[in-house]
Amino acid sequence: MNGVWWTIGAALLVWLLRIIHRTCVASRVSQNQEEATFWPIPSYQAELRDGFPTITCLRCNMTSWSPGDVQHLYCGNCHEYHIQKKR
Ligand SMILES: [Zn+2]
Repeated sequence: MNGVWWTIGAALLVWLLRIIHRTCVASRVSQNQEEATFWPIPSYQAELRDGFPTITCLRCNMTSWSPGDVQHLYCGNCHEYHIQKKR
C-alpha cells in the first residue's frame, strides 16, 4: 500500500514543480519584452523651432516636424516610440 502513496506523492511533486517552472519562464519572457519595447533613458529631444514643436530622435538624429510624431513621441526613421520605462 505504501508504494501507491509514494507514486501519488511523486506525481504531485512533479506537477507542482512544472507549474512553478512555467510561472518563472513566463515572468522572465514578459520582462525581456518590456525591456525591448521601452527605452530606459530619454531617447528624444522636444523643442520649438520657428514656433513649431519638433521632436529630435537622439538615436538617429532625425528631427520630425510632424505634429503626430511630436504628440505621440514617435520616430518615423526608427519606427519606434520614445516611451520611457515607468517605475
Ligand atoms: Zn530615430
